Amino acid sequence: MRKIILAVAIAAFASSASAQQPQGGAAAALNPQAPPQVAPITPEQQRTIERLQAAALESDLAWEIVEDLVTSVGPRMAGSEAEARARDWGVRTLREQRFTNIRIEPFTIPYWHAVRQEASVVSPAPQNMVVAALGGSPSTPPGGIEAEIVRFTSMAELEAASRARVEGRIVFIDERMVRTTDGSGYGAAVPKRGRCAPVAQSLGAVACMIRSVGTDPHRFAHQGGNSRQADGVSLPAAAISPADADLLARLAARGQARVRLNIQADIRDDAPSGNVIAEIRGRERPDEIVLLVAHLDSWDMGQGALDDGAGIAIITAAARLIRDLPRRPRRTIRILYAGAEENGIHGAVVYARQHAEANHIVAAESDFGAGRTYRLRTRFADAALPYARAMQRALAPLGVTPGDNTAGGGPDLIPLRQAGVPVVDLSQDGLDYFDYHHTPDDTLDKIDPEALRQNVAAYATFAYLAAETDWVFRAPQ
Ligand code: ZN
Ligand code: ZN
Repeated sequence: MRKIILAVAIAAFASSASAQQPQGGAAAALNPQAPPQVAPITPEQQRTIERLQAAALESDLAWEIVEDLVTSVGPRMAGSEAEARARDWGVRTLREQRFTNIRIEPFTIPYWHAVRQEASVVSPAPQNMVVAALGGSPSTPPGGIEAEIVRFTSMAELEAASRARVEGRIVFIDERMVRTTDGSGYGAAVPKRGRCAPVAQSLGAVACMIRSVGTDPHRFAHQGGNSRQADGVSLPAAAISPADADLLARLAARGQARVRLNIQADIRDDAPSGNVIAEIRGRERPDEIVLLVAHLDSWDMGQGALDDGAGIAIITAAARLIRDLPRRPRRTIRILYAGAEENGIHGAVVYARQHAEANHIVAAESDFGAGRTYRLRTRFADAALPYARAMQRALAPLGVTPGDNTAGGGPDLIPLRQAGVPVVDLSQDGLDYFDYHHTPDDTLDKIDPEALRQNVAAYATFAYLAAETDWVFRAPQ
């Protein structure tokens, strides 16, 4: 497999390198007003990139990091004692990898944890269902609530429903998620996780259940945050497994389904969380920061291996390869292990506020499992697009294709992106990611070590180029 990658790599690089000069020259000749079409990568930088990529494709460091995280720390709910142990693990790991300026930046968050999450069909024939309370859901009365279900096939159908149809019932949103490589199916399916409870409550429902936001056929429910619960919503909300959603659909078609839902949640204010930060200080421009992000917390049914242990491992191993170069890059590379992403990107919001004055040159987040990186998308100023193309050329040997300039940057980069920080997406193949996402099946064995190495190579290439050049990705002020 690795030999194939390298062969494809060399061919792709040879063609992209030979195409580079004529393309730029021709475009510049046609339009003398246009910025240079080709950003130069010096021969020395090119040799370093090749060295980094070869080293990454041979390295087991990322695997060792994620293996250690999920084995010695395990699942790590935001605000829990386990997340605190994960921060200590982070400091230890970043020290072992010989980074500098290692620190924890603490903050507090509202803590939520389901102590009990049960659902069952009461009539016409009793049977248990597999359920996950949605993050932030309030408790039901002790012993649970029992009511008829009313089924909708989409949020839009619920929004258009009459109060008479919904009042006193448990709303059930039976909407399926479409499997896609780029995760767009998730974007379409996930809004009900946050919107079901407030809309159902406004129509007089007593609880809300959704078909799990996922693509697997297994009898797992997918956990997930329901941030709307923070906004005065008092309706219990839960996701049920695909098989149980099918069961409720069949019962609804028969005209009767009485269901019991029992959620008991431990809810506290001001639980401790924190961000963990480390750096490779830039040798010439230490105040210019290339930011690599992943989140440290996870849901607790699985191990948080794909989400987001893999991301932690990828950015750490990539930075370590750069740390091992004969000289540090010109700019600073900063690693951010964000805390409390899952229940509302709290760490990202705190980081963006506390570091609003910092000069973030560009940022990337790894939070989409461990599938191979297949595309580089950017969100750069138009004048900086030649730099995007240069990065794409440098990544071509890894099988990474050029994408457009509409990168989102990942959940933990939302606040920085909104503040104008340029971001990139090293898009990963996520065709099976939502089979495991937020389920008991998010475990180490789902990570392909070969794909993990390729991700490390891609992140090392991006971070090195961004930190070693003087390229500017923002529009001129
Ligand atoms: Zn995540
Ligand atoms: Zn997640």
